[in-house]
Amino acid sequence: MSLSNRVNKISISPTIKVFAKTKEMLAQGIDVINLSVGEPDFPTPDNIKEAAKRAIDNNFTRYTLNNGTVELRTAIADKLKMQNGLDYSPDNIIVSTGAKQSLYNAVQSLINDNDEAIIPAPYYVSYTDMVTLAHGRSIILPTDEETQFIITSEQLEKAITPKTKVLILSYPSNPTGANYSRKELEAIAEVVEKNNLFVVCDDIYENFIYDNDEFVSFGAINKSMKERTVVVNGFSKSYSMTGWRIGYAAGPEEIIKAMGKIQSHSTSNASSISQAAAVEALKGQQNSVYEMRNEFEKRRNFIHEQICSIPGITCFKPKGAFYIFPNIKNYFGKSGGNFKIESSFDLSMYLLNEAKVSTVPGSAFGAEGYIRISFASSMESLKEGAERIKNALKGLG
Ligand code: PLP
Repeated sequence: MSLSNRVNKISISPTIKVFAKTKEMLAQGIDVINLSVGEPDFPTPDNIKEAAKRAIDNNFTRYTLNNGTVELRTAIADKLKMQNGLDYSPDNIIVSTGAKQSLYNAVQSLINDNDEAIIPAPYYVSYTDMVTLAHGRSIILPTDEETQFIITSEQLEKAITPKTKVLILSYPSNPTGANYSRKELEAIAEVVEKNNLFVVCDDIYENFIYDNDEFVSFGAINKSMKERTVVVNGFSKSYSMTGWRIGYAAGPEEIIKAMGKIQSHSTSNASSISQAAAVEALKGQQNSVYEMRNEFEKRRNFIHEQICSIPGITCFKPKGAFYIFPNIKNYFGKSGGNFKIESSFDLSMYLLNEAKVSTVPGSAFGAEGYIRISFASSMESLKEGAERIKNALKGLG
């Protein structure tokens, strides 16, 4: 079969093997603790579900405007103004089938052949492949726990070449939970302005911030950043709506129009029913968001303490999102059972086989030497998972 060069250039995620094995074990009735999930374990709040049911009953079931209903884009504009200090008109907003589609459309709209996109690592798995699909080049800026998993303005400046077009930022981060302060963002903004870059900023975890840390959306840094930033966000995480496939982007009208053109030739509008539900998500009660955040903070404190108590492991304390990203390099070179640990993939597979705990290898996020543990799982699962991980690691020598 002769597939396109484009598709041959992107990789199947190394996580697929861990996920496939996890699924296989669960199907066999094996009691696997799944800490590899990327979605809240809460149901979608009732008021949102009711709004969707009403939309169906009222036959709100036809195509909508390609870029999303005026009602939803107005609700998003109000939210961005009130919560983020970003003043956009509904024409500056596009609703899409998940934040992921908005990210994809933004990258397709901005990147030309061989343009460079700067991506701090560890990064969300899809960014680099999205850049490849747009025929661009990803320039990866590594970070580690010493630098709290954030890039500095100096690091950014050094990576810039005449081909640099875009910086892709995401905080609080999947997989590290790192967050940027306003001051750190201001320093980055100076470099962005000086070098005439665009920024795609993925705000999807903005509501899950702990210890009174502040979330500052990149476009809100100053007027110039607003003019060069595409803000991407969605409903999957904040409202536990991963299956509804609904997200959005806001930015300069020219870019949003370009994204709309691409969307009009792929999926057209996001589901009408999900759009009606999303209006309720933004306009209705927000208690469920705060409740989830508070529960995640408790779980973060618990799992972070447990994982840090394991000999040989160090772990950055996440400032947001719902993952921890422990450094497991001290286990490299050790063996146990049929396993020799030489990579994060080996350690994830070892934990899955020996401890029956599913995690994601750091290599999937461009950071070897770490594993990602999700705390979007019940406290019971986290307790049991932490015990099992401790015991299994004792078996490596
Ligand atoms: N961006 C980040 C950083 C994510 O972690 C995820 C999902 O895991 C997404 C985007 C995708 O979100 P959506 O479900 O809205 O497509």
